[in-house]
Amino acid sequence: MTKTHETTKVLRASTIGFPCDLHLWFAANKYEKLEDPKSLRVFAVGNALEPVAIKWLQEDGWKVFYNPGSQDADLEHVIPVTGGEIRGHLDAIITRPDTGNILIDVKTMNDRAFLNWKRQGTELKSPQYLDQIHVYADAAITAGLSVDKLGIVAVNKNNSDMQIEIMDYSVERMMEIRERAERTFAATEAPDPGPRLASWACGYCAYRHSCHCRAVKKDTSVGDGTAVTTDDDIINALELLRESRDLEKTAKDLSDQAKAVLDEKVKKQGIKSVWGGSLILTLSEIVSSRFDSTAFKKVHPDLAKEFTKESKSVRYDIKEAV
Ligand code: SF4
Repeated sequence: MTKTHETTKVLRASTIGFPCDLHLWFAANKYEKLEDPKSLRVFAVGNALEPVAIKWLQEDGWKVFYNPGSQDADLEHVIPVTGGEIRGHLDAIITRPDTGNILIDVKTMNDRAFLNWKRQGTELKSPQYLDQIHVYADAAITAGLSVDKLGIVAVNKNNSDMQIEIMDYSVERMMEIRERAERTFAATEAPDPGPRLASWACGYCAYRHSCHCRAVKKDTSVGDGTAVTTDDDIINALELLRESRDLEKTAKDLSDQAKAVLDEKVKKQGIKSVWGGSLILTLSEIVSSRFDSTAFKKVHPDLAKEFTKESKSVRYDIKEAV
């Protein structure tokens, strides 16, 4: 456990919404961060794409006040709170004649994360982003900048899709953020991870090597076939399975959304094939017949039993741990 030395306790805006109180405490108390190479590459790609997204916004007609750079940005905001400081730099403030000033943060996402974010929205999918931009907005307003709304600009790294979600600033939310920071600064001992600990958090935590939760938590099996594990391979596989279920749901939602439009504008008009943009849709009627096993069982229960073969398979159910 290595700590760097500088007396003022600091939490960065990009950390303040992390869903683990212990992670915040490590950060505030300057424990050494160990980022894995992949995470560092992901950050680097995000930083490289930020000015690209800003250019796209300008091309879309947004007037942009841009504050380039990461922790070396020109405009660094400091919010003093009891016991320390929250620091950060906003990405940009964008405006169009009819929108007012929207303080934004640019986020790059892979396809899966982008679709989930679009489906669920920032508050549900990534509340830490909302906390982050609240800090920037609070600091910017205090510094005399005009901010009417908050926004997350998401860029899909797979297909360069870009979307903005615009949200309101909440005084109550900012108050909770300040209180969380003050609690973190005041804690003289490492706290528990707390109720916000999300299932993905430990996998993205740069303080894992210092985390007593993980050090004391041994893999356990409680004898009835259930176990608690810290095996990263298993934890990653659980995450993958959960994400695959999210994707299935997203795919179904998207398909239902598309079919509703196509039923109305294509099928109902008697059109069998339509060419639009780079895509061609063909509608084909499919006639299928299905064996009614329920009715057959009723009429011929013995025969049904004679020809029913038992087979075993395993169902993988996955849900958030509470
Ligand atoms: S490893 Fe998990 S529990 Fe420990 S500090 Fe990090 S996020 Fe919190």
